[in-house]
Amino acid sequence: MKTIATPAGMQAWSRDRQADGKRIACVPTMGFLHDGHLSLVRRARELADGVVLTLFVNPTQFGPGEDFAAYPRDAARDLDLCRRHGVDAVFMPADESMYLPDHSIYIAEESLSGTLCGASRPGHFRGVCTVVAKLFNCVLPQVAVFGQKDAQQIAIIRRMVRDLNFPVEIAVAPTVREPDGLAMSSRNARLDADSRKSALGLSRALREAACAYAAGTRDSAAVLAQMRTTMERAGLRVDYAAAVDALTLKPVAALADGVLLAVAAFAGGVRLIDNQVL
Ligand code: AMP
Repeated sequence: MKTIATPAGMQAWSRDRQADGKRIACVPTMGFLHDGHLSLVRRARELADGVVLTLFVNPTQFGPGEDFAAYPRDAARDLDLCRRHGVDAVFMPADESMYLPDHSIYIAEESLSGTLCGASRPGHFRGVCTVVAKLFNCVLPQVAVFGQKDAQQIAIIRRMVRDLNFPVEIAVAPTVREPDGLAMSSRNARLDADSRKSALGLSRALREAACAYAAGTRDSAAVLAQMRTTMERAGLRVDYAAAVDALTLKPVAALADGVLLAVAAFAGGVRLIDNQVL
């Protein structure tokens, strides 16, 4: 497995392989890898001949006062996991090689980014689009794999790829959960014992909503109110509970197949998200 630190080195590695007719898959991550990330690697291996995992805690997607400094990091452990899971190259650029001191170009998606996580994290998706575009330009992949866990991110990246004509196919892998239902997240490492218990409120709220839908409930407002109650009872501070169209992210009044239920809440000081497609 090759470890690559510079954009030029990454491009050269990919071009070499593509000259031999190889198809490259990119798995963008911020590291502190868990089974969710590794499921994306498995999917990437099915879709391409060479898998590049990117390991970069992107400063531009964190707002002031968010957890950029506290975000968990362990590059040695991540590299070991990559080696054992068949990653061909890890791109782990230093902050300075990704963002030059006078970096002044950003990519802002202007329709889907104002809602859900974008409403409570202004500038977050501008940072995400900018870094994903940069990672695509460094890795030069034919396909990139993202997790359903970040459903809004998928909608926005698909829009960016469409609107800016990136020649990259976007693949999505299902959310991987702990045995008790909590969606895996690098941020789970920051939960203390009480917050870890409270955190179950997110997946519980989604499960209850899916059951209510299966039992015939169609009124979004009623289901969302119940989801909030469940999360609050678990000890969470709710950021949002929403029922939206999975592509447009516009709220829907009536639940239907394909509707995205999305939640965000704070467990202790840690912001967690989860979602479920009906
Ligand atoms: P992150 O390192 O949290 O930025 O996530 C990197 C990629 O892994 C994103 O495409 C996420 O959607 C995906 N991911 C994170 N958690 C999970 C999970 N529990 N299951 C599946 N994919 C995930």
